[in-house]
Amino acid sequence: MTLKDLAIGESACISKTGGNGELRQHFLDMGVIPGTIVKKVKLAPMGDPIEFDVNGYELTMRLADAEKIEVSKDFKDDGPINANNDDLHVNKTIHPGLGEDGKYHSKGDENPLPDDIVLTYALVGNQNSGKTTLFNQLTGSNQHVGNFPGVTVDRKDGAIKGHTNTLVTDLPGIYSMSPYSSEEIISRNFVLHEKPHGIINIVDATNIERNLYLTMQLLEMDIPMVIALNMMDEVMGNGGSVDVNKMEELLGVPVIPISAAKNQGVDELVKHAIHVAHFQEKPLQQDFCDKNNEGGAVHRAIHAVIHLIQDHAQKAGIPVRFAASKLLEGDKRILYQLDLDVNEKEILEHIALQMENERKLDRSAAIADMRYSYIRNVCRKTVHKPHESKERIRSQKIDTLLTGKYTAIPFFILIMACVFFLTFNVIGAFLQGLFEQGIDALTALADSGLSALGTNEVLHALIIDGIFAGVGSVLSFLPIIVILFLFLSILEDSGYIARVAFVMDTLLRKIGLSGRSIVPLLIGFGCTVPAVMSTRILPSERDRKMTILLTPFMSCTAKLPIYAFFTAAFFPGRGGLIMTILYVCGIIIGILVAMLYRKTLFKGEPVPFVMELPNYRLPSVKNTAQLLWEKAKDFLERAFTVIFIATIVIWFLQSFSPHLHFIEDSSQSILAKISALLEPIMKPIGLGDWRICTSLISGVMAKESVVSTMEILFAGNISTAITGAGAISLLVFSLLYSPCIAAIASIKRELGRKWAVGVLLWQCAIAWICSFAVYSIATLFM
Ligand code: GDP
Ligand code: MG
Repeated sequence: MTLKDLAIGESACISKTGGNGELRQHFLDMGVIPGTIVKKVKLAPMGDPIEFDVNGYELTMRLADAEKIEVSKDFKDDGPINANNDDLHVNKTIHPGLGEDGKYHSKGDENPLPDDIVLTYALVGNQNSGKTTLFNQLTGSNQHVGNFPGVTVDRKDGAIKGHTNTLVTDLPGIYSMSPYSSEEIISRNFVLHEKPHGIINIVDATNIERNLYLTMQLLEMDIPMVIALNMMDEVMGNGGSVDVNKMEELLGVPVIPISAAKNQGVDELVKHAIHVAHFQEKPLQQDFCDKNNEGGAVHRAIHAVIHLIQDHAQKAGIPVRFAASKLLEGDKRILYQLDLDVNEKEILEHIALQMENERKLDRSAAIADMRYSYIRNVCRKTVHKPHESKERIRSQKIDTLLTGKYTAIPFFILIMACVFFLTFNVIGAFLQGLFEQGIDALTALADSGLSALGTNEVLHALIIDGIFAGVGSVLSFLPIIVILFLFLSILEDSGYIARVAFVMDTLLRKIGLSGRSIVPLLIGFGCTVPAVMSTRILPSERDRKMTILLTPFMSCTAKLPIYAFFTAAFFPGRGGLIMTILYVCGIIIGILVAMLYRKTLFKGEPVPFVMELPNYRLPSVKNTAQLLWEKAKDFLERAFTVIFIATIVIWFLQSFSPHLHFIEDSSQSILAKISALLEPIMKPIGLGDWRICTSLISGVMAKESVVSTMEILFAGNISTAITGAGAISLLVFSLLYSPCIAAIASIKRELGRKWAVGVLLWQCAIAWICSFAVYSIATLFM
């Protein structure tokens, strides 16, 4: 029978992991290997995908993939590894081994690196293991955010607090050194090619088996390493413990129990990390293939391959042990880099076949099994698991509602509605009101100050009507934008977004995407730039492209000022209703366009849906504060650079005639002449006014400046320029037309120039068509 046929709540033992290629490798890396016991937990509300429990964590996959995994119900369940095995000598002291410098670990103190060298570290770990939390603890405010060379994935690095000669890089989360998504390739290449002086491997102690799988491969990299055993507060809170000294001995690197969220053990971790990198202490243990395990076939194969490729690996600069096990696993990238000759390739194939025959497992499964056997052995000797974790039980309770058959979708709608209601109506609006009052007061103060000083009339106009009106109207949106990001990041960090992907997978597949695409799309409601960047988590090019093309339909926060401005002027009191309609419109048009894409540009199937559902956790205040600060800073930077300059330029163009005379009547201005060229195109949709054309053009620089431009050009009497039908047309046009320059630039970095220009033109075309339709209908009634 297969995994698909299991009844809910039933357990079975995997007998064969079918399928092929990277997906199968991913399954193996996640611990879905023959001999593992799995339990079917539940189906998503729409019947697909399924969630099941493997090695104590929750994994999701589609029915079609579950069908490829054969299981047998005929097995002996000896329970989780050593649960409450009392014969085991378990060290139950808090942070065992803390401060006991090198109990087993013979500390190197020879040949230190020179003192003036900057020690570089890679922070590597599974997703949700606490990397970002630890990174924030390690670096405090010394962070720099940038991009990895050549790609747009956030690269955060910073010096460890109190150690200016260090540089830690926070890498995207990975499960294995066999990359599955393009983000994972970045992490692998960083470790493999940038050769950091040390690795800080963060391991989630509540999910230790699966986390150590990556550790096994990192140890083979032959780079000095320390293991940060995170979430120890949860493990100990539930009565579990880890014999850290024993684990150090078995893994050959320092293991430091920490709680990143509570900042416990971090100082200790830093001490060890600096020590191993400074003295270049390599891991002592790299040989994980037990020669007595199952006849020793894997052991013999690995050692034979090591002999075979030693020279090649050295030449290619790849650690030989890592190369050997990857080759046996069937890793094409490594095979290519090693540049073996035909003869050697033949011998390699021969060794692999021999291993498969003797081990009675195919090569990838045999290697995965080798790693998991070693891990099981380590855990048996060192880990004292708690009975049941409170967090797990709590998560399951929450999930009966949030992913329950009848409750999941209503809760999703309710939660999103709450987020938007709170953001726009309650908290955001209140703060925005305060902000506006402050800005008004400041403007009045500056105005009277300038008058009192008798400033030149032109300069006075520039400062008050240009800068204060323009930048001020944008600044007042800071609170709303920050609050929306706050909610989105809480949903993400708590683990809810992963559930949304699980629940929505079936729906998204109807438009040709997988549930994972929901993450970038939801972020798109905040800002298109991070949304486009976050598509890196998607493991297929097709899905990535398609998701990127859909993000502009999710109305971003920067468009809010436009909506607010027009609803206040034309439909007072009905702002909430109209904004909701606009958001929904964006989504519906996005869906229609996606269906079109699916039939034309992107035929083929969405990516498989294999994802971990982490336990719900309270996001840490520090992480959230850090993120909000970044967003606010980013917004302020934009307000005072792009928008500031745009305001001045536009004020200048509209205050001077082509002969550079300062004029009162801006219809004679330079700007009026330029924008008049666009009027014929915009006339059919009711927007044939040069001032509106100008505002929309400035909106391509930054959406916020649509309003700041109108503020300057209309000086408060917009309703004289267009009709109600025109206002509706303008709202629809703003909803759909080209995303801002920053978003276009990030699309260009992800997909190339052609796509970026394509998006710009295509969005304008869609916007024009929709506005035309809406305007034609509206003029009939208004
Ligand atoms: P990343 O995906 O690896 O960057 O993980 P994050 O740093 O975002 O952490 C994932 C979740 O685990 C967040 O909700 C954190 O607040 C939480 N977390 C991180 N470290 C700890 C810890 O030591 N103990 C507990 N209980 N929770 C933690
Ligand atoms: Mg993170």
